[in-house]
Amino acid sequence: MPVARILFPLPLPEPFDYLIPDGVEVELGSYVRAPLGPNERTGVVWEIVPDQPDRKLKPLLDVFPTPPMGEAMRRFITFCARYNVAGPGKVLAMVLRSRGGLSPSPMQTAYALTGHRTNRMTPAREKVLDAAREIGPASATELARAAGVSAGVVKALVETGSLSAQRQPTDQPFATPDPHRPGADLTLEQAEAGQALREAVKTGGYQPFLLDGITGSGKTEVYFEAIAQMLVQDPDAQILVLLPEIALTQAVLERFEKRFGAAPAPWHSGLSQVQRRRTWREVAHGRARIVTGARSALFLPFAKLKLIIVDEEHDSSYKQEEGVTYHARDMAVMRAKQENAAIVLASATPALETTVNAEAKRYTRLKLSARPGTAKLPEVSLVDMRSNAPEKGNWLSPVIAKALQSTLAAGEQSLLFLNRRGYAPLVICKACGERLKSPGTESWLTEHRYTGRLVCHLTGWSMAKPDKCPMCGAKDSLMGVGPGVERVAEEVRVLLPEAKVEVFSSDTAKGGEAVRDLVERMAAGEIDVMVGTQIVAKGHNFPNLTLVGVIDADSGLQGGDLRAGERTYQLLSQVAGRAGRAERAGRALVQTYQPENPAMIALAAGDRDGFLQIERDVRAELELPPFGRMAALILSAPDAGMAKQIGLAAGEVAPHGEGITVYGPAPAPIAMLRGRHRLRFLITAPRDVDLSTYMSTWMNALKLPNAARVRVDIDPYSFL
Ligand SMILES: [Zn+2]
Repeated sequence: MPVARILFPLPLPEPFDYLIPDGVEVELGSYVRAPLGPNERTGVVWEIVPDQPDRKLKPLLDVFPTPPMGEAMRRFITFCARYNVAGPGKVLAMVLRSRGGLSPSPMQTAYALTGHRTNRMTPAREKVLDAAREIGPASATELARAAGVSAGVVKALVETGSLSAQRQPTDQPFATPDPHRPGADLTLEQAEAGQALREAVKTGGYQPFLLDGITGSGKTEVYFEAIAQMLVQDPDAQILVLLPEIALTQAVLERFEKRFGAAPAPWHSGLSQVQRRRTWREVAHGRARIVTGARSALFLPFAKLKLIIVDEEHDSSYKQEEGVTYHARDMAVMRAKQENAAIVLASATPALETTVNAEAKRYTRLKLSARPGTAKLPEVSLVDMRSNAPEKGNWLSPVIAKALQSTLAAGEQSLLFLNRRGYAPLVICKACGERLKSPGTESWLTEHRYTGRLVCHLTGWSMAKPDKCPMCGAKDSLMGVGPGVERVAEEVRVLLPEAKVEVFSSDTAKGGEAVRDLVERMAAGEIDVMVGTQIVAKGHNFPNLTLVGVIDADSGLQGGDLRAGERTYQLLSQVAGRAGRAERAGRALVQTYQPENPAMIALAAGDRDGFLQIERDVRAELELPPFGRMAALILSAPDAGMAKQIGLAAGEVAPHGEGITVYGPAPAPIAMLRGRHRLRFLITAPRDVDLSTYMSTWMNALKLPNAARVRVDIDPYSFL
């Protein structure tokens, strides 16, 4: 009997061997079940080799009716594991996120219209028949919910013969998108970019693009052209659109639905298990044509992936920092290569890495510079806080205060941006000076006034605000320091008592529904002043918004993060781009204590390319990414003594490598997490060095106590 080498979604070093029993059809990539230790496990056939008769092997148990994982996907898993220095089993675990998707959908009883009308109609019965007409065959519960009546009404209609029961799968296929529906009217520039993408799709093969368009220039409409072309041309081709998790709002899905007449298959952390298994199964069988998802959607087992869009490609949420660390934009480019697919990276403020790839002609750059219609880019002015200081205890300069008043008087909307959730980012005791921290970490507690709690934004730990200092016992001595969005909103309410003021942060808008509600109320003009965190910097469209105020533009520039300047610039230009989207001109006021900082000067001048040039020169000079390579080795231990000891031991076995410099060990950016002490080495190397192999050699040379952990982060993004 031949032998199948099965890769399991577990941290094991390699695939395990099993006999393929007679009569069992197994291919490379088949999803199978096999005994492993005392359990049965799901895995994927990674290799098939001839039988070696002297070995005693267990047979595998059965094969799932899912199409086998394609060769390109298996190569991608191997690449991703090697590049990010993680076991292939751990990468496979990211693919097998929904075991339910491997089996056919469970069946349920659904009720459909028969066309027969009883003469004993009631208003409740009419509602049920209307619902059945609108949503099609559905379970009694779904029909009753849609009609707003009890399930008994549905049952009664079955008895009268107006509805009939039928068995159907619980998980229905996604509606097929229609590429022939008319798109938006494109400007000449948009049409040219759209045509370039259509041509690339026609030619086929791996082709990377940077769709480089200022905020409001219609990037979505342009990449819709590529999607439409792909749908027309290949009835089996699948399309993946990656978006930052927070941008996956209903409004975005509705744009797809409007253009293609069908909502795309969703994939993000907010899905229920049932929604998850439905998307996974439909993707694996090649039936879901368009998938919109967060970074983890990149690991869905597409049957025929031919086009990938990475929207807001500069967004730092594409970097995964827990478990297998990877950058979804970079991995998306690799996946496109393996699948021989086209890929479009879209952004108003492309990452320096992407810009450099475009300049080196590795990516084709498509530029969109004009806004459609009459909309203009807002005018950006810096407010020098040294000469425009707010009153003590306030955070709004007189310049912004005046602008808020005149905007309200004109019946227009304002948006204030501050990237700090809660009321105050730090709570200290006036008596003993203690800064309140989350237990077992170095992370400060943030005061939230709405809930009256002190919250750790890193671990999620929280407590009711105590009336005595937990350290010295002094009464009423705890004081919030610095501004959060809640405190700024309070200041606006005092300044403009008649204005409707709302806070928009992940605390006030938990989940897609709440985000959608706030966005819709803002778009409808029901809010005068919105005070928000980076959540507001995503592509919402507020036609009556004419003033954007940035409360603390400097907060992103502090510390030793190599991307701090770039990120601040990206965030600020996204926020500034919110103002004046429709016919009204907008303006942006940016409060800073460092008006001479190059990032601030470039922002005020709208000089993105000049700004990127400064950043680029600094990084080239220092051989920092993308002009050199960087990795981190993160060690953790349950106590400080062991952490110190393993740090020394790891330093001693660091391999020698040409041009490679090892810094550390130093406390990791998060020095304590969940009670563990963390140390970090930073490793830099010239661009042509294979840093993944170097890091994996180092990992393998480490001998650590059982309680210690080690992890590699290729191209780290966290430095603070
Ligand atoms: Zn105290």
